[in-house]
Amino acid sequence: MTDKLRIENLSHTFKGQSDIDVLDNLSLSVADGEFVTLLGPSGSGKSTIFNLVGGLIDAESGDIFIDGKRANGTRGNISYLPQQDSLLPWRTIEDNVVLVQEVNGAVDREAARRLLERAGIGGYESAYPDTLSGGMRQRVAFIRSLLSPQRLMLLDEPFGALDELTRLDMQDWLLKMWETDRRSVLFITHSIEEALYMSDRILILSNKPARIIKEIDVPFERPRDPGITLDDTFAKLKREIYLLLKEGVQND
Ligand code: ADP
Ligand code: MG
Repeated sequence: MTDKLRIENLSHTFKGQSDIDVLDNLSLSVADGEFVTLLGPSGSGKSTIFNLVGGLIDAESGDIFIDGKRANGTRGNISYLPQQDSLLPWRTIEDNVVLVQEVNGAVDREAARRLLERAGIGGYESAYPDTLSGGMRQRVAFIRSLLSPQRLMLLDEPFGALDELTRLDMQDWLLKMWETDRRSVLFITHSIEEALYMSDRILILSNKPARIIKEIDVPFERPRDPGITLDDTFAKLKREIYLLLKEGVQND
């Protein structure tokens, strides 16, 4: 079967007074319905990978394929959830949720309300974003991504700005929503535990220029049980990844 996303030998340098080599011959793939996480130090080039896949910037060399079609520099193929505050403050929650549909042509307010209800945001349809907590706002943003037709989701540290408890809550919530229609996900985080808890596969990145130092198949079954975080296997993998990241940074 064709991979949902395939990146081949992607390299990128930001030109300026001094050039910054961000990606060096990076290759990776996400299968249909797979949850893959990029785990790497801050500044290693993770968001740049998303900007390249989303067509916001053009790669210096290399290929990006979405559903087998070359997609370098092409927008509109992905649904993207940024770190925080991507809701428009002057639109109500419901109007924010249907925004992507408006752009794509077919608005389904019924579906929007149903998803809001399921996300525990029922009753807030006509409220404005600044009256909701950070966790609620991120749920709304995620629902907006779910309502967009693209089957490839890029989630860039979506819980990075939330406090620890809300973050743990949101991880379970996102997995539950994801289980129902299993889109292909490329997820970014710098939290080892979050990567282990959420993913099918983890790609560990070095410092920039980003290379994949190691690929880890996460052995836990789905739906994920929060208890796995207390498992010996979980602790062993966590330690292994920690050492790899430390080494990757030191070899910079
Ligand atoms: P991450 O998401 O892993 O924290 P980024 O992809 O945001 O890393 O950034 C990787 C490196 O590229 C950083 O050194 C950053 O300063 C640099 N960078 C990112 N975007 C630009 C840009 N538009 N112009 C110049 N340098 C950039
Ligand atoms: Mg980033």
